[in-house]
Amino acid sequence: MAEFTMELNDEQKEVRDWLHGFAADVIRPAAAEWDEREETPWPVIQEAAKVGIYSLDFYAQQYFDPTGLGIPMAMEELFWGDAGIALSIVGTGLAAVGVLANGTEEQIGTWIPQMYGDANDVKVAAFCSSEPDAGSDVASMRTRAVYDEAKDEWVLNGTKTWATNGGIANVHVVVAVVDAELGSKGHASFIVPPNTPGLSQGQKFKKHGIRASHTAEVILDNVRVPGSCLLGGKEKLDARLARAREKAQKGGGRVKNAAMATFEASRPAVGAMAVGTARAAYEVALEYAQTREQFGRPIIDNQGVAFQLADMRTSIDAARLLVWRASWMAVNGKPFTAAEGSMSKLFASETAKKVTAQAIQILGGNGYTREYPVERMHRDSAIYTIFEGTSEIQRLVIARTLAGMPIR
Ligand SMILES: Cc1cc2nc3c(=O)[nH]c(=O)nc-3n(C[C@H](O)[C@H](O)[C@H](O)COP(=O)(O)OP(=O)(O)OC[C@H]3O[C@@H](n4cnc5c(N)ncnc54)[C@H](O)[C@@H]3O)c2cc1C
Repeated sequence: MAEFTMELNDEQKEVRDWLHGFAADVIRPAAAEWDEREETPWPVIQEAAKVGIYSLDFYAQQYFDPTGLGIPMAMEELFWGDAGIALSIVGTGLAAVGVLANGTEEQIGTWIPQMYGDANDVKVAAFCSSEPDAGSDVASMRTRAVYDEAKDEWVLNGTKTWATNGGIANVHVVVAVVDAELGSKGHASFIVPPNTPGLSQGQKFKKHGIRASHTAEVILDNVRVPGSCLLGGKEKLDARLARAREKAQKGGGRVKNAAMATFEASRPAVGAMAVGTARAAYEVALEYAQTREQFGRPIIDNQGVAFQLADMRTSIDAARLLVWRASWMAVNGKPFTAAEGSMSKLFASETAKKVTAQAIQILGGNGYTREYPVERMHRDSAIYTIFEGTSEIQRLVIARTLAGMPIR
């Protein structure tokens, strides 16, 4: 276990500064354009691939940082640049983590490189879990996967929604029901390889924020994938289903929820994205308050403005500390006895929404225009309280964890 310190080591500082440089020089200048275009910023993803930021290797290196701070630091810097573009860069990671968490070594080696492509031909991947009638309530998922034993193929049917990179991805990871009796324990994840017949993009959503990130429905109409595309393999799935059926027959009891532990470990990364957006808006507001003069003095000379900035900075630092604590716990295998991962996501995402709104207020009329970036940051920040579990779901998870109640 790493020795406790509040300071980043030299290597971490170097990576942080390098990422900050990319965010400042490449991402931030492109932010307004891609927000208006509402399209995937392929040239920026390609730039990220060229310098090594868009690759599994980079995220694996950050993930294995023994302090746990590699991923939150990377997220904060990239999302400081711009949330929509940064999500286009890191969105593939959601699908890659799905394969890393559940896939065999062969599946990891086969599919993850195809998710990223290479610097000359970049690709993206999508993770498709949410459905029109299954958002917060994942257990009510309807997409079915049926095994065709004669052909050793799985047949997928259903409609997925809100998929980041859905329909434009080279590789889709799709969560589907294999045993409807077992609720979320009867779900399994499948790879849908490039150009598989039957998979198509439904509507592409026109969004409030993170508009450079592509979000769409994914339609699965008799999509046939080889047996080898079931993540983890059939043997492991059969054993898992048998255990779940046995527990269900015995009247359930407390089943350790593995998915919940995974969420606790992944939610701080979303918290770090929110910290990045909040910090970006705070910095713009601070500089503006120091230079804008009214009544013959900079507006920061008014306590009403200065105190807002003090509160903004305090909340951002508190959010970062919660994110770092949860990330450190995840990497050191500490049990999340108070749902500390959910806590960090809840506090950081609510902070981003509040701080970006305060930034607009401090910039006055200018804050309300697209000449300044804070209105975009405010629109972008609203996503953090919605995806990877809404704020209400985070509160529900925290409260149930504290009370020792099961989380469905
Ligand atoms: C831009 C964007 C990108 C996304 N990317 C992906 C992706 O890549 N892959 C993917 O699978 N999904 C993705 N999602 C889906 C996202 O995770 C869901 O939108 C989210 O889980 C909420 O589900 P919902 O939209 O159906 O809202 P609902 O679940 O319908 O919730 C509506 C409201 O009811 C509240 N609510 C629901 N249940 C409770 C409860 N028990 N107690 C209190 N309040 C409750 C919610 O908090 C919310 O305020 C994305 C969504 C967006 C908007």
